[in-house]
Amino acid sequence: MREKLSIMRWKSFLCFKSLPLIVGIFFVGTVYVINVYVIHYSLQLSPDSISSRPRLISGRKHESLYLDKDSTYGRRDSHQYNDIKDPDGLDIFYDTFKLQLLGIIKTPEDQRIRDEGYREHAFNELISSRLSFHRKLPDSRHKLCESVTYQSDLPQASVIICFYNEAWSALLRTVHSVIDKTPPRLLYEIIVVDDYSQNENLHEKIAEYIWNILPHKIKLVRTPQRLGLIRARMYGARIATAEVLVFLDSHCEVNVKWLEPLLARAAENRRNVAIPVIDIINSDSFEYEASPLVKGGFNWGLHFRWDHLPSGYFNEKEAMILPIETPTMAGGLFAINRQYFFEMGQYDSGMDIWGGENLEISFRIWQCRGRLDIIPCSRVGHIFRKRRPYGSPNGEDTMTKNSLRLAHVWMDDYIKYYFQLKPQARNINYGNITDRLELRKKLNCNSFEWYLKYIYPEQTLPDMDNKSPKPLKKYKKSQPARNKATYINTGWLKHKSSGLCVQTEGDIYVKKSLLLLADCIAGNQTQEWSETNDHEFQLSKLLCLDVESSSVSNSYARLMKCHGSGGSQSWIWRSQNKVSQLYNPASGKCLVPFHDAGTTYLTIAICTDNPEMSFKLQSNDKIPHGQLTM
Ligand code: UDP
Ligand code: MN
Repeated sequence: MREKLSIMRWKSFLCFKSLPLIVGIFFVGTVYVINVYVIHYSLQLSPDSISSRPRLISGRKHESLYLDKDSTYGRRDSHQYNDIKDPDGLDIFYDTFKLQLLGIIKTPEDQRIRDEGYREHAFNELISSRLSFHRKLPDSRHKLCESVTYQSDLPQASVIICFYNEAWSALLRTVHSVIDKTPPRLLYEIIVVDDYSQNENLHEKIAEYIWNILPHKIKLVRTPQRLGLIRARMYGARIATAEVLVFLDSHCEVNVKWLEPLLARAAENRRNVAIPVIDIINSDSFEYEASPLVKGGFNWGLHFRWDHLPSGYFNEKEAMILPIETPTMAGGLFAINRQYFFEMGQYDSGMDIWGGENLEISFRIWQCRGRLDIIPCSRVGHIFRKRRPYGSPNGEDTMTKNSLRLAHVWMDDYIKYYFQLKPQARNINYGNITDRLELRKKLNCNSFEWYLKYIYPEQTLPDMDNKSPKPLKKYKKSQPARNKATYINTGWLKHKSSGLCVQTEGDIYVKKSLLLLADCIAGNQTQEWSETNDHEFQLSKLLCLDVESSSVSNSYARLMKCHGSGGSQSWIWRSQNKVSQLYNPASGKCLVPFHDAGTTYLTIAICTDNPEMSFKLQSNDKIPHGQLTM
């Protein structure tokens, strides 16, 4: 069917629209087939799409994209963003130390990129822009996944990536990672949907990039107006033609063999919706961290949450690789049979911008006899941000509106629990839901009571909440349990050029005490610094050297409770022209003295080889070395 359609389009294109192109096609004889492909795509696109300009690209062989990765480096339109500071290329991930140095601010321009990146994207764009589009990731799957094999006739996928004002580097790393990690035969196309982004020239630049480098598999389309992620995904799905649709956010990196297990699951039964495990790309450091195997739930405020699997679930090793039945999905990362997606009513097109659509599709799939599973052997990294960097056009609370829509359509009487928690939501206009109610009727779906009883029996009602097991702490913020940290060095933290020592202004026990330079005194607890193997500097093994960095001004270094999660308390020795500095990856800057009304405090500044930045930790024999238990 697909083949037939494509030939028809191709013929009509030749006959009516493209005489000049026929001449062109003769000139590129050897890449004839590829160009047919390009033109075919150009016709499928909507009229408002930039990429729909019929153009002839001297296409490269498809496979070369997979083998010849380096040749895509440093090309026109990409060199200024990509790979400039990643000399070790593909292996940089494995060295956390190098990854942290990648965030160093060297010029005011670096500072601008970083500040703007945090403002507009809520992640460290300086690091993102310096990281390779092809960086290597740790294989975060369970070992058993390596021996799983998949049938040779897996269906093909259309990967749909919607974005709104996305950072160039994050978006293209997403696209490249899909190209790099997916066997060509399984990847029918990537559909990149620009949801009417406002970034200047972003669309044109991406169109150019794609046309120059990856023309044959990627379609870029632009929505005629801001649709919001829900309708933007539907917009992309309408263009897609492969058997399976796979949705991704525009700031992901897929991992080894990510697609095969999703396709295999979707191929088993068209009602299977398959979800990868979402690994964490740290929004400050871009470190890649494997996520634990958990499942999706929700609370009565209709927020998604992660739930533990029952104890004993992993007693059988096989459980590490088998699909995990999940009551809900976290967001926009999943694979679904295309026809089934449409039969099931896609998404609720009355939902705006962001929020609620993940619970809506989850309830709908389950209540209407489909199923959702997390597939442990499929791993996709996602940048989890601490805030959403965009709003809705008129500042509406789209999460509440969307939640109301889904609750009214799918939750029957259980909506009362939502209203108990959010009484003010009763007065909010949620639009017309007739179509969705009809859909529910047409699909002859089960009740919400059925869903709770059979799919989410662990869920408790608000009045029972004190008896309920504690839900997981908010997933995005959960930290791995802290291991024993080891002291690697203890002594004075000496400012080399002045010969003075870093000490606290106040008491060693007092949080927020500022740090300053003073004469070095042996045996003085206010000057006893211990460096740990996770880059903390603890004063008298109590509080940590900490600095708050903001784009406007840098505050003074101070003592804070050690939080064990790096960031403002991570200090790495770095040498610049023999000046040994203490570099703080979270801010991209180095420790430096700052004179203020007769006192020399410490702050952070752009790292230079000015001897003023030179510090050392000078061992002091009187201070014992030892183990620290946290
Ligand atoms: N998105 C979009 N249009 C919008 C808002 C978001 O296309 O109006 C895209 C966004 O760029 C991202 C995806 O939808 O690729 C999901 O949004 P986001 O990552 O902000 O959601 P989160 O991961 O925080 O749930
Ligand atoms: Mn996201």
